[in-house]
Amino acid sequence: MELKIENLSKTYSNGVQALKNISLTIPQGMFGLLGPNGAGKSSLMRTMATLQKADSGSIQMGDVDILKDTDQVREILGYLPQEFGVYPKVTSYKMLDHIASLKGVSNKGERKELVEALLNKTNLWHVKDKNLGTYSGGMKQRFGIAQALIGSPKLIIVDEPTAGLDPAERVRFHNLLSEIGENTIIILSTHIVEDVANLCKDMAIICLGEVVAQGNPTELTQRVQGKIWKKMIDKQDLDAYKAEHQVISTHLKAGRTMIHIHSEAKPDSSFEASPANLEDVYFTEITSRLQDVTV
Ligand code: ADP
Repeated sequence: MELKIENLSKTYSNGVQALKNISLTIPQGMFGLLGPNGAGKSSLMRTMATLQKADSGSIQMGDVDILKDTDQVREILGYLPQEFGVYPKVTSYKMLDHIASLKGVSNKGERKELVEALLNKTNLWHVKDKNLGTYSGGMKQRFGIAQALIGSPKLIIVDEPTAGLDPAERVRFHNLLSEIGENTIIILSTHIVEDVANLCKDMAIICLGEVVAQGNPTELTQRVQGKIWKKMIDKQDLDAYKAEHQVISTHLKAGRTMIHIHSEAKPDSSFEASPANLEDVYFTEITSRLQDVTV
């Protein structure tokens, strides 16, 4: 089953057009939705999660009309929002038990089995009797996934999940996501290219409310292969390079600045060819649309 978004648009009452005619086909497995802050990712996630309405367009998953059959959507949906509030004085065990009963798991034995399985799966068993307020960022995110998995959802939406996690917590969270399974659609929204490169077999890049690229990460990387050039420069010369070339990213290396530029041909002999990666794809797409992007 795939999720089909067609011509989705949304303008907020303040006049900001957050989604401009978005069309995307999202297959089963992990799908990465990559875009800078303000791109429209959360607006799209919230619309898919039936938390806000679109002005026009459609979202269909199998025979479920996501924008209209909201009750049905909530039965198949697991959602982990960007701002995930937890009740600080409740244990994860009690909270999961409560959410499971709200989601209709009324048999006590069945609920116990489910909650215990989720706590094990998300590696929270050892802290199941601790209040959620004492959890680290990574534990809270894993708890977020545990609650999102109640009810065996067919569609899981995860909005900016690794913001604020330390590297070890991030790896644990990624492993957990990748174990969820192939017969579920998992949409991961993020501005972190590496998360998508590591986890997703399909992806889209959105920028200023529009889809600017979609496909699989390898295929997209192939499109810019042979067009990425690098050079070590002095920081004070950066503006001059920006004026002349499409500088897609800058990285500090031993106190100097390494720039990557996108160009069909080698600009001059002082540049060196750089093997393209997904970050180059991402910055090529967004710098041509945004100015003043800092890395
Ligand atoms: P992202 O998740 O990619 O950072 P958002 O969907 O949050 O992007 O935001 C897209 C644009 O819509 C931004 O310009 C943002 O300021 C604006 N926006 C988001 N939510 C609202 C809202 N409730 N009211 C008005 N403008 C909003």
